[in-house]
Amino acid sequence: MKRFITVLTLMAMAYGATAQLKPRADAFPPVEEELGAKALTMATTVEEMAGWDRYPTYDTYLEMMRRWAEAYPTLCHVDTIGTSVQGRLILSMYIDPQTDADLYRPEFFYSSTIHGDEVTGYVMMLRLIDTLLSSYGTSPDLTALMDRTRISINPLANPDGTYWRGNNTVQGSRRYNANNIDLNRNYPDPFSTAAKSMPQENQAMIDYFTAHRFRLSANLHGGAEVMNYPWDSYPSYLNPHPAAEWWEDVCRRFVDTARVYGSSHFRDVTASGYTAGGDWYVIGGGRQDYVNYYHDCLEMTMEISSQKTLSSDRLPEYWHFLAPSFIGYIGEIHSLPGSVDVPLVEGRRLTVFPNPAVDRVTVAGLPEGSQIELLDLTGRRVPLTVTERHDGTATLDFGSLKPGLYLLRTPEGTAKMVKR
Ligand SMILES: [Zn+2]
Repeated sequence: MKRFITVLTLMAMAYGATAQLKPRADAFPPVEEELGAKALTMATTVEEMAGWDRYPTYDTYLEMMRRWAEAYPTLCHVDTIGTSVQGRLILSMYIDPQTDADLYRPEFFYSSTIHGDEVTGYVMMLRLIDTLLSSYGTSPDLTALMDRTRISINPLANPDGTYWRGNNTVQGSRRYNANNIDLNRNYPDPFSTAAKSMPQENQAMIDYFTAHRFRLSANLHGGAEVMNYPWDSYPSYLNPHPAAEWWEDVCRRFVDTARVYGSSHFRDVTASGYTAGGDWYVIGGGRQDYVNYYHDCLEMTMEISSQKTLSSDRLPEYWHFLAPSFIGYIGEIHSLPGSVDVPLVEGRRLTVFPNPAVDRVTVAGLPEGSQIELLDLTGRRVPLTVTERHDGTATLDFGSLKPGLYLLRTPEGTAKMVKR
C-alpha cells in the first residue's frame, strides 16, 4: 500500500510541477513578509474594534466572544474546542437560534488561521459573527439562513502561532504551533499509512468534528487568493473528488460574487479564481482531505488574501468584497449534491449513486456487457455482488464491505467510491 501511494504521489508531484500554475505559498518554508510599510494596529479594547481596521489582542478577542454570548444568549453560545500547547483557548461561536427545535438544520463550520500568520480570515470571521448576530430579526435573508442552519465559526485555530510574540501583537506571528508543527500537514491522511502523533490543536479539532455532524465547512488561509477544493492529495486527473462539478459551481459563485465588489481579486493563481487543490500543488496531511474523507463533510480551503499578514487598514476593504461570498457559501449547505456524475472517457459518462454509499450502489450508463470490478486502495480485487443488471444499469451490493475508499473499475474508466 505504501509503495502504491508513493508512486501516485510522485506522479502527482510531477504533474503539479508542470501545471501552468503558480506554486502554492503554503508549500514552501515560510518567508517573513516585509513588515516595513505595513500597519499592524492592535485593538486593546473591544471598543477599538469598532471600525474593524485593527487586529484584536488575545484578551480583546476573548472579550469579544464573551460579550456576544452575553448579548445574544438565545442566539448563540461559545464552544471551547480545546486549548493550544501554550494554553490559549481555541473557541468557536455556535449560532443556533432557539426557534423550532424539531426542525432539521444542517451544521455548517467556518475555521480560520490554522497557519498563525495568515490572519486576514481571523478578523473576517469575527466580523461575520458580529454581522450574523446583529442581523437576526432585522435582515430577513440572514434570519432565514440562521433559522435553517446551525453555524459554528472558529476565528482562530492556531492562537500560539498568531500570538507567537505575545498576546498583545500579531507582529511576528508565525505559521507553526508552539511545537514547530505545521498543523495543516499533520491531520490523519486518508491516502497514507504513515503513523503520526497528533498535535494537540488538531486532536481538539478532530474531537470537535466527531462531536458534531458538519455537512459543509471551510478552512481559511492567506498567501494567495484562490478557492481550493478537494482533493489536495491528488491532482484531479488521478482522483477527482466525487463532487467536483458541484465544487466548481460553488467556487464560481463565490469568486464571481467577490469580483462584483473587488474586481481585481482572486486572480493570482488561476484565471478562474479556483482550482482543485492537487492541480495547484499536492500536499498530504491537510485538514481538508481529512474532513472530506473521515467526516463525510464537504470542506474546502479558501485562500482569501495574497498577503498572509494583511495590513490592518486594508481589513475593511477585504470584508467589503468577501462578506457576500462568505454568507453565500453558508447557504450552499442547502444545495449539497446527492448523486454524483463521474466523468469517464471522452463522450461517455457513468453515473454512480449514492456516493458515499451504505448498502447499495447503482451504476448507470454502462455499455452492454462491460465488466465491473471493485478494487481496494492497494489495487486488490474485492468480491463484488451485482444484484441486478439491465439496460446499462447495475445494482451493486455494498452491504458487506468495510467502510473506506474503493475504486470501481470498468473498461471505460475508474470511479472512486466511498463506503460509509
Ligand atoms: Zn495556510
